[in-house]
Amino acid sequence: MYNRNQAEQQICDFLRSTDQVLLLTGTHQQEKHPLALRAVLSEYPAPATVLFRTNHASHYRDFLRPVLPLQKKPRPGVPIRVHGAYELFVDTMNRASWGSTPRAIDVAVLYPIDSYKADTGTESVQDVQFRGAKKTFLITWTDNRDIAWTNHFAPVHVVYDAEAERPDYHERVRELSKAPLADETLTRLPKYAQSIPHDHLIRVRCSRCRSTRWARMNMPYPGEAVLHSAKTGVYWARCLKCGMTADEHTKWYR
Ligand SMILES: [Zn+2]
Repeated sequence: MYNRNQAEQQICDFLRSTDQVLLLTGTHQQEKHPLALRAVLSEYPAPATVLFRTNHASHYRDFLRPVLPLQKKPRPGVPIRVHGAYELFVDTMNRASWGSTPRAIDVAVLYPIDSYKADTGTESVQDVQFRGAKKTFLITWTDNRDIAWTNHFAPVHVVYDAEAERPDYHERVRELSKAPLADETLTRLPKYAQSIPHDHLIRVRCSRCRSTRWARMNMPYPGEAVLHSAKTGVYWARCLKCGMTADEHTKWYR
C-alpha cells in the first residue's frame, strides 16, 4: 500500500537528494500535487523560485487552493509570495505562456502530465531544466495514459494511492487506470472512429459487417475485467460503420 505518509517521506527524501526528477503517480487524483507542493514550499531550502505548470489557465486557482489561500486569480508573471520565503509562478503547458515566467527557477511542478504527449512532455521538461530547475515533479491525474516518455528523465517514482483513506474511490480510479487506449492505437484509429470520445471506444465483431469494427459503448470502458464479467445487457455498443448493436461483450477488446 502506498499511503500519504510514505509518499510524503519519499518526496522529502527526494528534495534532500541529488536526484532531479520525481514522477508521482497513484489513485489519489486531486491530492498528489498538493502533497508535492506543500513539501516543496516547506522543505526546499529558501529562498526559492517555484514554477507550477498546469494544463489550463482556468485551473490555476482550483489546483492551488488546497495549498495556498489565494486572494487574487494567479497570472503568469505575477509571483505569489509564500511564507516570505518562496516565489511561486504559474504558467501552462502551452508554450505561449512560457515567456511570462522567470528564466531561472529552482523547482518545477508539472501537473497533470496526462495532458502531454511524448514530444510536448519532453519539450516542457527540457524547458524547465534549461531554466535551471534542480527539482522537477511530474505528476499524473489518472494513470491511464502512456507516460513512457518520462523514463527518458530517469525519475524517482513515488506512488500515492487513496487505498488507505478512501478504499472505494481507490478501486474506481484503479479501474479507470486499466482503460488506456495506447498511443499506437490512437494513431491508427480509422476515420469513422476518430470523432468518438476515446473512453467510449471498443472493438467488436459486427455481425452485419462480418468484420471487426470500432463501436461506441453506452458507457465509458470500465476495464477488461469488469466488461468481460458483466451481466448481459449492462454494456452495449453500436458499430460505428453500420449502426448494428453488438452483443457478446465478453469478446470485446481495445
Ligand atoms: Zn457493422
